[in-house]
Amino acid sequence: MIIGLADIGPDGLDVSGEVPESALGCHAEDPVRCTGPVHSELHCQIVDQELLVDGTLSASLEMRCRRCDCTFTGVLENVRYHYDLALDPMPESVDLTDDIRESMLLAFPSYPVCAESCKGLCAQCGANLNEEVCGCKPPADVRWGALDRLG
Ligand SMILES: [Zn+2]
Ligand SMILES: [Zn+2]
Repeated sequence: MIIGLADIGPDGLDVSGEVPESALGCHAEDPVRCTGPVHSELHCQIVDQELLVDGTLSASLEMRCRRCDCTFTGVLENVRYHYDLALDPMPESVDLTDDIRESMLLAFPSYPVCAESCKGLCAQCGANLNEEVCGCKPPADVRWGALDRLG
């Protein structure tokens, strides 16, 4: 995602582009990863010897549910993106790839869950409680046990 500064006119420059999946450094085992390129819709301006870029990013994601460990997909859209750079000295072009990648990684959900209603895995036998009801009893709560004995 390279912006040629000579292309930015007095009214600025609208650019849309993609940062390829390969430049994002996602791994198959990551809890959240992009399954395709990051799309960007950007407006670039030069104001007072400064490059200002504003716009939005979007990407398709694959995530692993923190509760039940299943894999599910989603879309991250309208991630606000801002970049500025003092143009002194004036470069011919600016490569936004790394900065876009950073912004996208920061926007990843930190606690992906496949559904709000996801019941997760049984802490005792590991059964997926979305799919089956296991026979485990909830663990005895130690604090209440202690109170019972006092009574
Ligand atoms: Zn889940
Ligand atoms: Zn169980």
